[in-house]
Order: sequence, then C-alpha cells, then structure tokens
Amino acid sequence: MRTIDQFNFCNQKVIIRVDFNVPIDKNTVTDTSRIEAAKQTIDKICSDGGSCILVSHLGRPNGFQDELSMKKIIDSVEKVLDKKVLLSNDVIGEDSILKASSLKPREVLLLENVRFHKEETEGDLNFAKQLSQLGDCYVNDAFGTAHRAHASTTIISKFFTNKFFGKLLEKEVLAIKKVMSSGQKPVLAILGGAKISSKIPILKNIIKIVDDIIIGGGMSFTFSKALGGNIGKSICEDSMIDICRDILKSAEKNNVKIHLPLDAICSLDFDNNSSSEVFDIMNIGDDYQGMDAGPNTLKSFEKVILKSKTILWNGPVGVFEFPNFSNGTKALGKYISESTDKGAFSLVGGGDSVAAVKAFGIQNNMSYVSTGGGAMLESLEGKTLPGINALLS
Ligand code: AMP
Repeated sequence: MRTIDQFNFCNQKVIIRVDFNVPIDKNTVTDTSRIEAAKQTIDKICSDGGSCILVSHLGRPNGFQDELSMKKIIDSVEKVLDKKVLLSNDVIGEDSILKASSLKPREVLLLENVRFHKEETEGDLNFAKQLSQLGDCYVNDAFGTAHRAHASTTIISKFFTNKFFGKLLEKEVLAIKKVMSSGQKPVLAILGGAKISSKIPILKNIIKIVDDIIIGGGMSFTFSKALGGNIGKSICEDSMIDICRDILKSAEKNNVKIHLPLDAICSLDFDNNSSSEVFDIMNIGDDYQGMDAGPNTLKSFEKVILKSKTILWNGPVGVFEFPNFSNGTKALGKYISESTDKGAFSLVGGGDSVAAVKAFGIQNNMSYVSTGGGAMLESLEGKTLPGINALLS
C-alpha cells in the first residue's frame, strides 16, 4: 500500500478523489464530516508544497443540475479547510484546464460535480484519461465510492505511476484489516438491521473469521422462525429460512458461537407510540411484532461484548429511529464503548449503525467509525474494492 506519507509532493499537481457527497438542506450543508475527513490529506499535500485538484460527486445528477453544483458546497469546503478554494465550472473543459494549469503550490481547486458527466459512472476510459491530464499524480481518498469502478475512482489510476492511498482511505483499509485478518481474539461481529437477505454474504464470509456473532434486530426473527419459534407479526423473510439453518450449521462446523436474542420488546403497530410488551423470542403474541431487544437479550449480549477484544458492529438491534424502541441499540453502543475503553478494537460500519452512534453521541467512544456504507459492506463480504485494487496494480 503506497500512502501519501511515503512521498514528497513539492511542486506536484495532485488530483485527489474525495467524497464530498454531503447532505444539503435549503442550500445549507447540514453535515460537513465528509469534508473534514479529507482535510488531513489536503493539508499534507499543501504543506509539502504541492497543489490539490479535488474531484468529487454530489448526489446522483442526471446531466447538469444547478442544485447539485459544487457552488452549493464551496463555502463549507473553504471553512473546513480554512483556506481559499478555487472552483471550476466544468470537469474536463476549458475552465478546469486553465485553472489547473495555473495552480500555484499550496493552492486548492475544486472541480465541478464529476457525475454531471455520464462517463464518470460508466467508467469511460477516455474521460478518465482527460481527467488524469489535469495533474501529475493521483490520490484516492474516497472510501465511500471505492466499491465503484467509476472513471475518477478506479479507471483514472491506469494513467499514473505515482498513485497513493489518501489518509482516510488508508485508515479505512487498516481498520477493516484489523477486524478481518489481524484482530486480537476473541473477535465478535454484531449484525443487525431489517433484512437478513442483505447480510447473508457478510455472514458467510465472517463465519470463517470471527469467534462470536451476535444477530439482532429485524433480521433475527427469520432465525427464530427457522428454529421453530412463533414470531407473531415480526419482520421475516420466509425465503431465507433454509439459508438461516445452513448458517447455523456452518457456524457450528466452524466453531463459531451465534448469539440470538432471548426476548424482544414487541408492539401491536409499527409506531413509536404503540403499546408494548416483552415476549420470549420463541413465543411472541400473534398480534405483536418485535421492535427492540428485550432485557434478557441485552444481558446476554453485554457479556459477549465485554469479553471480546475485537468488535465489528453493523446494523441496529431495534427500530432505533423510534425513541421508544431505541433502548437496545443505545445499550449496545454503551457496552461497545465500555469494551473499547478496556482495550478492545471496535469498528462501526454500514449506514444505520453509523447513524445510530452519531445520534447517540458515542462516535468518539469507538475505535473507528467508517465513512463508507456500501464500500464497507462489500469489504466485509470479503471483496477487494475496485478503487483499492486499481491503486495496488
Ligand atoms: P439495514 O439497512 O438492513 O441495516 O436495516 C436498518 C433498519 O433496520 C433500521 O431502519 C431499523 O429501524 C430497522 N430495524 C431494526 N430492527 C427492526 C425490527 N425489529 N423490525 C423492523 N425493522 C427493524
């Protein structure tokens, strides 16, 4: 892995693929964490005396769309980077060529939204080549799009011998490696969320790696049903029942202990204010649906979490968006915080668990909170991401 710390960028024009796909509400950027995440890379290159040409997408435009122009975020970028940032009104056109060619050391240029060109998502070779000609070397620091073989994330690498992992990408890769191949034992994976079908490839991969797996949230009810339980109206994917049985068998064969919920807080309706009751996980009332982890479940999960030395967390163990059913996910975050405090390495990855730790204000208690949703899931499935592969070849 060639990282930016291994190179001096003095007088180099560096194309940096960043992920500035930030949320915007009424013309205001509501969360700048993605911009903050790229700051270290930009600072290092500028302090070497290099200049930065930032390439990012914003949203999913269909051709040019003014509301997804980088104009919308330039003030936030300048504020976070604490410096003047030039903006070009195209990606590979006259304005970019002119501004890139006249960039001075330590200056930063942000190109217009790269997805205004359909060639970006098509991974077009010629588009990637034209983009590459704006700079002398390439840095990928966009973990969130590293699972896409797009022109600016993957294909562009072909045109550089000097290509590097940015600081954020490096941190993400090391965190995943720590869990997937060099984690201190016992290694625990906590999987939650609504649907088991979306987590099957991850389960199949981590069963070869971890010592314990906690399965919680909506996806656990398909397992309860596979074991003969009455799950009432809880969320369930009947087509996955046989696969759940196979996973339980495979875990036994691999000496992996799967921890399923023992009880659940259940409600009559999928509503924050619906009246609730605790049921044994194998015997939920016919009119009820499981909404959150029950008290016995939390006690059993707590024990496993506190004895683990490496912890991966993906997915909430209840409908945490409803305050009345967020207790289980909150408690889990607390146990992981405690375990991390005692020296365990904890990685939180995947959209909803990241949203949960942020909502509960405990992101700083975790060893690492990933910035990539889909990219993290594909890494946990054991895939090598195209954006990362391209930097290595
Ligand atoms: P996923 O995207 O598969 O990680 O699922 C995250 C979603 O799972 C969140 O929106 C949670 O509200 C939802 N979820 C967690 N537990 C349950 C449950 N018991 N019933 C329904 N949805 C759930």
